[in-house]
Amino acid sequence: MKVTCPGCQAKINVKDIKNIKKKGIYVEKQCPSCHVWFSLNTTLAFAKMLGVSLLLVTSLLNLSGTKSEYSLLFSSLGFVGVVVALLVTFFGKNETVKKPNN
Ligand SMILES: [Zn+2]
Repeated sequence: MKVTCPGCQAKINVKDIKNIKKKGIYVEKQCPSCHVWFSLNTTLAFAKMLGVSLLLVTSLLNLSGTKSEYSLLFSSLGFVGVVVALLVTFFGKNETVKKPNN
């Protein structure tokens, strides 16, 4: 999988990114060519988390033997969650992370 650096527009292979910082649901990555830090747009990161949560919750509800008339609804919601998460993963734009000058 490749990401586009918002700083130098280089296509970076995710495997080449050495520096990664995790901050809750946000992941910051450092571009190996221009050393700028970038992360997924915060709204998109939130949408992705929501999508994954939706899948998890609906799967759990289906596994716990909820009445069958709801299981189709939960499966559909879970499917929507997967689609949202995948769309964000593949089409989400990265943004430069502003670092305070020190
Ligand atoms: Zn770059």
